Amino acid sequence: MKCEKCKKDYPSEHYFSTESICRKCFAKMTPEEKTQARQPKAIYTMTTTAFTIDGYKIVKSLGVVRGVLVRSRSVFGTIGASLQTLIGGNITLFTELCEQTRADAFEMMASHAEEIGANAVIGVRYDTTEIMQGVTEVLCYGTAVIVKPVSS
Ligand SMILES: [Zn+2]
Repeated sequence: MKCEKCKKDYPSEHYFSTESICRKCFAKMTPEEKTQARQPKAIYTMTTTAFTIDGYKIVKSLGVVRGVLVRSRSVFGTIGASLQTLIGGNITLFTELCEQTRADAFEMMASHAEEIGANAVIGVRYDTTEIMQGVTEVLCYGTAVIVKPVSS
């Protein structure tokens, strides 16, 4: 097995923190990079808001995949956020909720894509609708495709 970062060869996956990054390299990464590296490769490195992926060609389109989530703000969160609006600035409680909900919707979409045999999702979009006061629908959708590296 080869580490994707340092290109060193290791005898087994015991030396690896993720599928393709060795423990040494992983330890040197920023928390952000670590989160990214831990996610299953096939789907996550291959989702894009664009309709093409550099270095890959689309061999099959499997149609639209989506993840839908409906979230209501908890009473506690609403009180907290109301206090924050009084103080002013970025309403972090809502920001966090939105971020988390989007991430969950994305996750659902990605696992749906995986289920139908896709290895990439292109044209990824988010859509948010407030259904009623405090209840928000978050939709994440894209086109599931099978891609292959372009051999040059
Ligand atoms: Zn390494």
